[in-house]
Amino acid sequence: MAISEGVPQPILTDGDPRLRIPSRRADPDAADFDQRVDDLAATLADFRRREGFGRAISAPQIGWNERVIICDLGSGPRAILNPEVTWRSPERQTVWDDCLSVPGQLVRVERAKSISMRWLGDDGYAWTWERLPPDMAELFLHEIDHLDGVLMLDHAAGPGDVAPMNQRNELIGDRRPSNPSDPMAQHARRWTPTGH
Ligand SMILES: [Zn+2]
Repeated sequence: MAISEGVPQPILTDGDPRLRIPSRRADPDAADFDQRVDDLAATLADFRRREGFGRAISAPQIGWNERVIICDLGSGPRAILNPEVTWRSPERQTVWDDCLSVPGQLVRVERAKSISMRWLGDDGYAWTWERLPPDMAELFLHEIDHLDGVLMLDHAAGPGDVAPMNQRNELIGDRRPSNPSDPMAQHARRWTPTGH
């Protein structure tokens, strides 16, 4: 499976009950799977073109309740299927977060500073990421939340944790490092469950 051209889909926004459905495991053998992945990737690319941000999107955000994430960290779109967090650092971080499904708002969230995770890639291999840097840990915890029907708004402790989008430069700005090298290649290792 390789990501090819798809059709951008409408992005569901907060209040749509479909964003609250816990997603089932992705089934890459389903007949329409590749097309849906292509459409999800096209939706992210279209959003980035229009809004100038957006590092990832999860399938429930277009009403597809399977455990699929598309991320583009600067080296093109990748599909992450059935991700599982295998370790969380005891250290925490507090960051201002944004979301394609919560237009116009930023939310202050507290999350683990680092995680390890494993997932199935669009190359058909199982992969692991060990001890991700803070910006990637925060990103994938946000996306995995979507797969569980959770939005960043659920993490806001009070009204002081929500800010309007026009404060984005001030609150987020360039605090997320751009990744000129391929962070997938930098952090990912192929994972063979049988140990071979
Ligand atoms: Zn989101």
